Amino acid sequence: MKDLRDYSLLNHNTFGIEAKCSRFLEYASVEEAQQVAAILRQEKAPLLIIGGGSNLLLTKDFEGVVIHSAIKGHEVLTAEDENHVLLRVGSGEEWDGIVALCVERGWQGAENLSLIPGDVGASAVQNIGAYGSEASHIIYKVEAVELATGLVCEIMADECQYGYRQSKFKTEWKNRFLITHVTYCLKKQAGTLNIDYGNIRAELDRRNIKEPTLKELREVIIDIRNEKLPDPKIQGNAGSFFMNPVVSREKFEELLAQYPQMPHYHVDDTHEKIPAGWMIDQCGWKGRSLGAAGVHDRQALVLVNRGGATGADVVKLCEQIRKDVAERFGIQIYPEVNII
Ligand SMILES: Cc1cc2nc3c(=O)[nH]c(=O)nc-3n(C[C@H](O)[C@H](O)[C@H](O)COP(=O)(O)OP(=O)(O)OC[C@H]3O[C@@H](n4cnc5c(N)ncnc54)[C@H](O)[C@@H]3O)c2cc1C
Repeated sequence: MKDLRDYSLLNHNTFGIEAKCSRFLEYASVEEAQQVAAILRQEKAPLLIIGGGSNLLLTKDFEGVVIHSAIKGHEVLTAEDENHVLLRVGSGEEWDGIVALCVERGWQGAENLSLIPGDVGASAVQNIGAYGSEASHIIYKVEAVELATGLVCEIMADECQYGYRQSKFKTEWKNRFLITHVTYCLKKQAGTLNIDYGNIRAELDRRNIKEPTLKELREVIIDIRNEKLPDPKIQGNAGSFFMNPVVSREKFEELLAQYPQMPHYHVDDTHEKIPAGWMIDQCGWKGRSLGAAGVHDRQALVLVNRGGATGADVVKLCEQIRKDVAERFGIQIYPEVNII
């Protein structure tokens, strides 16, 4: 187990922000996760569990214990039926490496989630999603050590209360478990692929591909994402910074009368979702900066570190954008990123 004091988190957050924590504990096995749990029961310090730190904004040094999984490896298990395969993966594995592995073996289910940054443990917390798919569609089981008891728990997917980018790990179970493994259930033989989302089909048409293989679909998604989103290794960011607000039908109709071009997504009979990125763009923020923090020039939902930004710089920009959106549209938008 790694146990470090006064440790820099610069390489543990994709915003590329310098901040330290008082103590950093890293577990590389279930037994080490149990040791971490025992230490925390003694220490009683504030706690922050991180994966790759790609949904995280650090605003100051963290006076507490940061915990990180370094559990690596995967194993293939037999599924309950012959058409599926179970893949049990260590929570410290990089998510996209697992997508690549599934695609290479011809197993269907993870391909639309290609190139989402972060680790396997967080995929089960965040219920990561993209292009009409989400992790909960393939999560079979989560294994974790309970911090209060040190017990190893097996949590089936249907107990995790998965919703849009939501899970019980983010709410009722926050800081209750250290995830050690996630088991995904994948289709052994690829069937109809999910290509009717975003501009996947248009890009496939452009490449003259009628019935893509898993590999071709992954390549197209990677290219679309690289075109649209900044690479955190080159420009610090945490992906979509704000959640897309869901508004009442009355509010939606009032806005639509004012902005007939406004994009929107149907939620249910009484609610509609409005893309926060569109509103931010309408407020003139796309490509603009406030100090060392800025709004990405191709995707207004993404805030970026233009170089040397502090967490406070990003928060200042976030608050200014929220104020402008509220004034212009009468809608409150909220950060999706975990601000510490
Ligand atoms: C360029 C870019 C693009 C992105 N695109 C998408 C996208 O398309 N779709 C999408 O859904 N997200 C996207 N994201 C957001 C991000 O990649 C996901 O939220 C991802 O799951 C975060 O993984 P992480 O390992 O970095 O987790 P972190 O940000 O470190 O943590 C996320 C949460 O998981 C918890 N956690 C992490 N590991 C463990 C563990 N072992 N045990 C218990 N709890 C744990 C943390 O406490 C925290 O609550 C994007 C981010 C970036 C930078």
